Amino acid sequence: MQAFESWLYPVPEGLYCKPGRFFIDPSRPVDRAIVTHGHSDHARPGHDQVMATPETLAVMRLRMGASGAGRSPYPLQLGEPLTIGDVRVTLHPAGHILGSAQVLIEYKGARAVVTGDYKRRRDPTAAPFELVRCDLLVTEATFALPVFRHEPDNREIGRLLASLAAFPERAHLLGAYSLGKAQRLIVLLREAGWDRTIYLHGAMVGICELYRDLGIELGPLEPVAETTRESLAGEIVLAPPSALADRWSRRIPDPVTAFASGWMRVKARARQRGVELPLVISDHVDWPELISTIEDTGAEEIWVTHGREEALVRAATLMGRRARALALLGREDETE
Ligand SMILES: [Zn+2]
Repeated sequence: MQAFESWLYPVPEGLYCKPGRFFIDPSRPVDRAIVTHGHSDHARPGHDQVMATPETLAVMRLRMGASGAGRSPYPLQLGEPLTIGDVRVTLHPAGHILGSAQVLIEYKGARAVVTGDYKRRRDPTAAPFELVRCDLLVTEATFALPVFRHEPDNREIGRLLASLAAFPERAHLLGAYSLGKAQRLIVLLREAGWDRTIYLHGAMVGICELYRDLGIELGPLEPVAETTRESLAGEIVLAPPSALADRWSRRIPDPVTAFASGWMRVKARARQRGVELPLVISDHVDWPELISTIEDTGAEEIWVTHGREEALVRAATLMGRRARALALLGREDETE
């Protein structure tokens, strides 16, 4: 088998597949991009052709305008094969957010999987992660330190509901990333029996509407701007993390501040943000799940990107895999 680096390698624009002449999640405008999901550190504007799931293309249009999904969007269903020259590409569910996909690239008998962001736990708003066996695994590493172990989400939702019961006179201001995490929390709350109206920061309204249009049932929602301060007592108000500490939050009377993120495992981060009720709910794999994914895919070579590369490269090497960090430009800590 040819070395993977001879046909798949990082360039300044992002990860490039030479025989297919496409980039995966490029950070700069390119002729042909395959985009794993709609988060802004993966989905950028200005490409010519964008190949992605219909859901991801819809998210890109919503967030970046009509041309946000490229001049010629190319919807690719999960599992639908696409042949470009000698390369065969298929998308497989990544379980991260609605529409998120892993990219399987087959070339001259070799199988490479680029995970994008992924998680392996149940998420009622996303197709479940599919394990794809491969020779090369290019994996994200957002939570690639042994300290990161996410709690069962129903336990964390239970803690939120217990707090609402204990402080019925206070609003609960719940910080969550606007795309994916917010909608997952809403559905988890519905499953746990919370059927009251959930109030939304304005930045979340459009994305929630898109999820509904794409068939995700969210129950009664209302923009917080359209309600009175007094009526928020005992209610849940969802807002993006940046809104927790800014002037906007002053319109919520005496709130209990909660925040749902894998980062809430780190107590100092919760304290820094003034979070009283940290909920460890993540849309990424935790450390044990990263290790088991390396095992389960059967990949003999592991490339690590998007996060804490060093620890996972070392762990994979100790597991007998060839492993390296992929230094891709233009990556930031996703607000998870
Ligand atoms: Zn993401």
